[in-house]
Amino acid sequence: MTRSISILGATGSVGEQTLDLIRRERDNWRVEALTANGSVVKLAEMAREFDAKLAVLADEARLGELQETLAGSGVEAAAGADALCEAAARPVDLTIAAIVGCAGLGPTMAAIEQGGTVALANKEALVSAGDVMTAAVAQHGATLLPVDSEHNAIFQCLQGNRIEDVSCITLTASGGPFRTWTADQLEAATPQQAVAHPNWEMGAKISVDSATMMNKGLEYIEAHHLFPVGLGALRIIVHPQSVVHSLVEFRDRSTLAQLGPSDMRVPIASCLAWPHRMDTPMESLDLAAIGELTFCAPDENRFPATKLCRQAIEVGRAAPAVLNAANEVAVSSFLSGQIGFTRITAMVEEVLNRYDPPAPRALDDVLAVDREARSVAMLELN
Ligand code: NAD
Ligand code: MG
Repeated sequence: MTRSISILGATGSVGEQTLDLIRRERDNWRVEALTANGSVVKLAEMAREFDAKLAVLADEARLGELQETLAGSGVEAAAGADALCEAAARPVDLTIAAIVGCAGLGPTMAAIEQGGTVALANKEALVSAGDVMTAAVAQHGATLLPVDSEHNAIFQCLQGNRIEDVSCITLTASGGPFRTWTADQLEAATPQQAVAHPNWEMGAKISVDSATMMNKGLEYIEAHHLFPVGLGALRIIVHPQSVVHSLVEFRDRSTLAQLGPSDMRVPIASCLAWPHRMDTPMESLDLAAIGELTFCAPDENRFPATKLCRQAIEVGRAAPAVLNAANEVAVSSFLSGQIGFTRITAMVEEVLNRYDPPAPRALDDVLAVDREARSVAMLELN
């Protein structure tokens, strides 16, 4: 049976890996909409190859260019923030929410409001919107499937189990490229070093988040919303080999874990085929060749980001949205060479202490907090 799919953020790392899997089962899928920020040529090529009905750019100024590139293909072209949300609202069997940052929140919410199945990679959207998003999922009867490898692992471990029987959820963290670096070395870390992740190939923003451990902090908040076991039952452990993707302990002290190659196509495939399974091109896990799986506690002195995230979710209200916005500004300032590596988390902490708006009740409130927190963060830069 053919299923319809839209991919928000199709030209990114998660988007491309999703299309790689779809290419292998071409007859099973009908592609409705593909979206991108500004990569006209890549988006147009993908839309042609996958015979998409619609291709949408976030960058409105480049609509003409997209229309020209798609001329004669039969693919409809659109651009701008409203067009992204309209594309996301088209009814499909599965939406892949893989835009990076809070920029993906509006389109992700538009997909959720259709009451369909949304595979969520865009963790910043859930971190920022929190209860506003989970309430929309419940209200519209949508299904959220976690793409993030740790949350996908937890989701798999929970199948056939009751959430009330969970005593503890442990998120594993690779520790990133700077796991063994001293505080002095971290001061001098460059963007090039930060984006060179030892185990995963990912977009620039999440790679920097992995290097600061902010990624694990955001995932802690993400886990809190996806798996309501209480903050006291959520842990983080460093596991440099990235083979065990997360663990769930139950009240009888039985622990289930999901293991697999560190390739995002495994969790993406689990969402594409859910509740069944599909083939992936990956080799089987060779534990004898890997030899050793090691674990250790995170060092929050060198990597304070997880502590900040825990504080933000304990405070609640709009604190996670403020934290996320400040982090997005800080990461892009680091990538453009404006600030040093350790300034990223310092800036996030300053913005969190400086700006404490009330709890958002609806999407517009979250977007307003996001905008305001970005301006506060920009002031911190000067
Ligand atoms: P990426 O930077 O490779 O791709 C991002 C996609 O979003 C691109 O298609 C880009 O065109 C689009 N985009 C960027 N800014 C936009 C904007 N302002 N408006 C509309 N579209 C915009 O990022 P990625 O690594 O694929 O990550 C995507 C999301 O998935 C992130 O939230 C990330 O945390 C999450 N995630 C990624 C991985 C991974 O392995 N890459 C793993 C787990 C979770
Ligand atoms: Mg992850």
